Amino acid sequence: MTVAPLPTVVLDARFARELPELALAWQAEATPEPRLLVLNEPLAAELGLDAAALRTPAGLGLLTGTRPPEGATPVAQVYAGHQFGGYSPRLGDGRALLLGELVTPTGELRDLHLKGSGRTPLARGGDGLAAVGPMLREYVVSEAMHALGIPTTRSLAVVATGRPVRRETVLPGAVLARVARSHLRVGSFQYAAATGDVDLLRRLADHAIARHHPEAAAAPAPYRALFEAVVDVQASLVAQWMLVGFVHGVMNTDNMTISGESIDYGPCAFLDAFDPATVFSSIDEQGRYAYANQPVVAEWNLARLAEALLPLLHDDQEQAVALAVESLGTFRVRYTEAWASGLRAKLGLPAGLDDAVATPLLDEISELMSGSRVDFTSFFRALGRAARGDAEPARGMVLDLAAFDAWAERWRAVGPDADAMDRVNPVYVPRNHLVEEALEAGTAGDLGPLERLLDAVTAPYDERPGLERYAAPAPAEFNAGFRTFCGT
Ligand code: AMP
Ligand code: MG
Repeated sequence: MTVAPLPTVVLDARFARELPELALAWQAEATPEPRLLVLNEPLAAELGLDAAALRTPAGLGLLTGTRPPEGATPVAQVYAGHQFGGYSPRLGDGRALLLGELVTPTGELRDLHLKGSGRTPLARGGDGLAAVGPMLREYVVSEAMHALGIPTTRSLAVVATGRPVRRETVLPGAVLARVARSHLRVGSFQYAAATGDVDLLRRLADHAIARHHPEAAAAPAPYRALFEAVVDVQASLVAQWMLVGFVHGVMNTDNMTISGESIDYGPCAFLDAFDPATVFSSIDEQGRYAYANQPVVAEWNLARLAEALLPLLHDDQEQAVALAVESLGTFRVRYTEAWASGLRAKLGLPAGLDDAVATPLLDEISELMSGSRVDFTSFFRALGRAARGDAEPARGMVLDLAAFDAWAERWRAVGPDADAMDRVNPVYVPRNHLVEEALEAGTAGDLGPLERLLDAVTAPYDERPGLERYAAPAPAEFNAGFRTFCGT
């Protein structure tokens, strides 16, 4: 038997080297019968990886961590975090391994990371494994987010392992190969802070500055600047989620990155009928992570990051707290700015339109949308047609026609730019019923529906004939009580 050569991948172990206290050298579990389910060829090319080599047995060994590249040091990354508000000092490792960091052909550093690669000493009671369905969900949703222009971890591949995974039923297992700017989380800082080792906390902050927010290094107070940079990227990120109707579902502090990328797609979903109180997660009984709560939760999580950083902000605790509170105050300002400018763009408002005209247009359309529970995605797209003179599709979705007509008249008068609207209002998002359909088929071995869904959502602004069903709302029966389950 000839063994295909390993794809030539050179991985650094910078995280493990600089932060050994947070890294535990470990190996992925064997995969009895690896089978490639989906490979992201454009992403492979961006990373400088040869897609054909990744399809070979050696390539699958890389994508499952069972044959790491020579010289690589795969590690589990420990973190703490608040889950639904309750603190866990050693939450886990994401049931994942960091294979290492690679430098892309354009000189950027990316984590190559495996989710579902088996038990580690940090796994608590869990098996460290993942099932095919949830890994395909993360693949399709993260790639849709990327195509929407929203910062996110990426998905390189899903490989079925041939190992059964015991959940409520026995499911086929899989490993997701994930790519990120890093896997530093708010929970990583909480863990470092809780050790009481300020030197470790400082090294972690320096690592984060170097990788994500290098401008902070030159600021008069670098760690405060780091915190403000994270506040900034998170305010912008959550505003972008809100503008496409995305509900993350489990915004625990371990699921919030320092880089500002969306991470860990578990019980996430896109709004169909617009209702700010929408919750999709089966375990979120209080609605903590409901659509409309996401900005508030992000701010709460950032307060936990600030607490972790206090020893670096000032020697005097009281002064450190005062600085943190002041910096956290920028979240609301930044979020409100990002949300309002994004909504202006979705409505095609001309640049520089006076707030006195724009603000009532934004407020009233939000109210009309929730009052009529319009389909979030198709309503904005229909407004693009309204801007071109055909108001009927949008008008047909609202209940209060008089209010809509009055609003539309004032809106048309400011000259909305329909082409600009079509560039920010997607036609195709991974709608819940389509995702469920694709995962169900994928779990049973038929990847056709997943491939067709990926084709639609990875070019989301580009309306194409033949893809009508990917733009249409779910059948009414589907949405009644739709819940997604934690990606365990
Ligand atoms: P999640 O809500 O998916 O972010 O899960 C929270 C954390 O619990 C993960 O980051 C893991 O560290 C841990 N965890 C979840 N599921 C498993 C599992 N099957 N095996 C081991 N650890 C797990
Ligand atoms: Mg997580």
